[in-house]
Amino acid sequence: MSVFSEVPQAAPVAVFKLTQDFTNDQSPQKVNLGVGAYRTDEGKPWILPVVKKVEKLIVQDDSLNHEYLPILGLPEFRSSASKIALGDDSPAIHENRVGAVQCLGGTGALKMGAEFLRRFYNGNNNTKTPVYVSAPTWENHNAVFANAGFEDVRPYKYWDAEKRGLDLAGFLGDLESCPERSIFVLHACAHNPTGTDPTQEQWKQIAEVMMRRKLFVFFDSAYQGFASGSLEKDAWAVRYFSFSKNFGLYNERVANSSQMEKIVRTTWSNPPSQGARIVAVTLNSPELFAEWKDNVKTMADRVLLMRAQLKAKLQALGTPGTWDHITEQIGMFSFTGLNPKQVEYMVNEKHVYLMASGRINMCGLTTKNIDHVAQSIHEAVTK
Ligand code: PMP
Repeated sequence: MSVFSEVPQAAPVAVFKLTQDFTNDQSPQKVNLGVGAYRTDEGKPWILPVVKKVEKLIVQDDSLNHEYLPILGLPEFRSSASKIALGDDSPAIHENRVGAVQCLGGTGALKMGAEFLRRFYNGNNNTKTPVYVSAPTWENHNAVFANAGFEDVRPYKYWDAEKRGLDLAGFLGDLESCPERSIFVLHACAHNPTGTDPTQEQWKQIAEVMMRRKLFVFFDSAYQGFASGSLEKDAWAVRYFSFSKNFGLYNERVANSSQMEKIVRTTWSNPPSQGARIVAVTLNSPELFAEWKDNVKTMADRVLLMRAQLKAKLQALGTPGTWDHITEQIGMFSFTGLNPKQVEYMVNEKHVYLMASGRINMCGLTTKNIDHVAQSIHEAVTK
């Protein structure tokens, strides 16, 4: 008998299962609107031209080697990433209130943040502090915080299915009624999965309550630049909140860094260097930085174009319901409002793959498949 004979089968991760089903589908009409990654109008992944260029520069640079980086990461990467998030003129940076850790992707960053908060926020090792995540949210948020030891991960109201937009009153209500010092995970822009962000006026209301009620803001910023095409616009909320000293890790930066080092050391010990070098070289050269912003805008503009076209096609077909939310939403994702039965029809009958929640990745749309997708949505809604 194997010592592993009692290992239970884990449920597949929905988004990857969807991709597998898509790959197995032999239909020439098939479309993958599931996985959250950029695709070109040919349906292909896109290596940004600026990235290709910088990779060549790095290969040719004989001064570089494969030694360990510092535990907290490449210094030029950390400083340039902080400036991208908070702005060159950030008071938080000038007042030395900012710490940065080079992590393994967004998930690694969430894990490091969650570990740090569990260890040191609201008393040491306080596993009872409520952590609020939006309803709905990116599915991994719940488990990352739970795995970091938080025992009380709860939803806060966010999506209003009826009006297909933000439930601001519900959100503010939850901010008013939750325990003081609760942690709130906020999406900096391009909310995943709804594509629905608060307006600047709404962010101000959210900030006012959070400050008054001493709530902790945890921004997950996965898509800066990719939502509107502008780094500045997409960072508006993060920067607005960072102006307030009450929200910052004020005056304790050195101790915080030392503890972050300990957490990283026992998790991955040292971060990989290649990606961080590409970013640091790009952001520290005015020409390459301009080229990168241009590349990002190319991606954002294609998404905006697909949104406009999908809405126009559904309106032209006379598909029942309003489709304004398709262009009001922002970023890669759109919450279509299709119900699970309609999604099932799309997948099984039309070979259009999307999440059961009705979330679609706008980048999966191309000028070649958009008619088929619009027609499929029309049939799913009217059948
Ligand atoms: N947060 C959000 C809101 C995301 O959408 C994603 C990526 N889907 C992540 C975090 C994780 O990023 P990564 O894939 O780099 O771990």
